[in-house]
Amino acid sequence: MMVTRRSFIGMLSALGIGTALGSMPAAAPRRPIIDTHVHLFGSGDSGSGCFMSERQRRHWNYPLFLKLLNLREGNMDHDYVAALVGQLRDSSIDRALLFAQDGRYDDSGNFDRTATNAYVPNDYLFEIVARYPNLFIACCSINPKRRDALEELERCAELGSAALKIHPPVQDVDPGLAQFRPFYRRAAELGIVIIVHTGSEHASDVTSHAFSDPARLRTALEEGCTVVAAHTGMGSFLDEHVFLDDMLQNLIALIGRFENLYCDSAVLASAFRWQNLPRILKEPSVIDRLMHGSDWPFPSNAVVFWNRLVPWQVASLASERNLFERDYQLKRALGLPLGVFERAAGLFKRV
Ligand SMILES: [Zn+2]
Repeated sequence: MMVTRRSFIGMLSALGIGTALGSMPAAAPRRPIIDTHVHLFGSGDSGSGCFMSERQRRHWNYPLFLKLLNLREGNMDHDYVAALVGQLRDSSIDRALLFAQDGRYDDSGNFDRTATNAYVPNDYLFEIVARYPNLFIACCSINPKRRDALEELERCAELGSAALKIHPPVQDVDPGLAQFRPFYRRAAELGIVIIVHTGSEHASDVTSHAFSDPARLRTALEEGCTVVAAHTGMGSFLDEHVFLDDMLQNLIALIGRFENLYCDSAVLASAFRWQNLPRILKEPSVIDRLMHGSDWPFPSNAVVFWNRLVPWQVASLASERNLFERDYQLKRALGLPLGVFERAAGLFKRV
């Protein structure tokens, strides 16, 4: 039998050789394991309609992003999907909820291309999901400010979207505004899950971080939506004083009031976020609503958890090139319970 690094980790966990923080559970999560937070990106070089602004290309993370996924300028749309599909197939994850990304809109609801940093049209998302129906579940993106938000919602539901993503600080929209109630009400009727970025954002330009407070989710929840607070309202150590507790407390308060509120673990095991998961693990009400999400392609980092893992785990996870697998194994090793990896299958069972 050939022993790969991945089967070696599996063997050790099956033997119950655990971690410094709790122990890695011997049992594996029930399948299917769904990663609920995965990004589709592109440059538009294949005619996909995607774009990235000059500002986004000057961002410090852009060259890292190209290198990490081996993307060639001029062939980026193709290379990105090839990396995404290749890594997903070669990981323990069965399916991924794949996100489009809408842009910014002006106060009259018209698309503002100049102010938009990264854009992935819903039609391109549906094209990719149709190409790999066993791998992906479609999550469209609709900025509720857009003039045709309701029509686009109907259209995306018709085309099979199971969820819709809103990124308030990047899309310059306050998701808590009362004017969006009809939009949320219709999403609830259509059974579309609303995924909203909460907590801080450093991968792109933002307008107001006040928009990413979980407290702003109340409007959608009151209209009957199932809502996911992406990133569980967490921030990095750089903005700890603002985010790490206030936003989490606001999320906990809403969890107590609404049983259809969930949160995800996306990006919470990355380099500047070593405080996030240990903090969340102390909150049983949050853990009971948490769903596994990687935020692929934003990479997890095992090295910053050196004091919570044994050295062989740090070394093995740090050398894992598959970003889905690294994130999944790291979060299991850090002690996230099985339910976190199983919960999404119940939520998205109709797809
Ligand atoms: Zn994300």
